[in-house]
Amino acid sequence: MALSKQLLDILVCPVCRERIQLADDDSGLVCVFCRLKYPIQEGIPVMLVDEAEKL
Ligand SMILES: [Zn+2]
Repeated sequence: MALSKQLLDILVCPVCRERIQLADDDSGLVCVFCRLKYPIQEGIPVMLVDEAEKL
């Protein structure tokens, strides 16, 4: 399930408060500033640093 554009527009990285973007393979949401990828579980973005994957 793709995330809505509206949702992407309001989501920010919890660390740096910058905009995040959808990963190329839709597997998560990427903060290019922190180089972290936040997972998407069952269509819900998990915006937790503890759950994020380092890129
Ligand atoms: Zn960030």
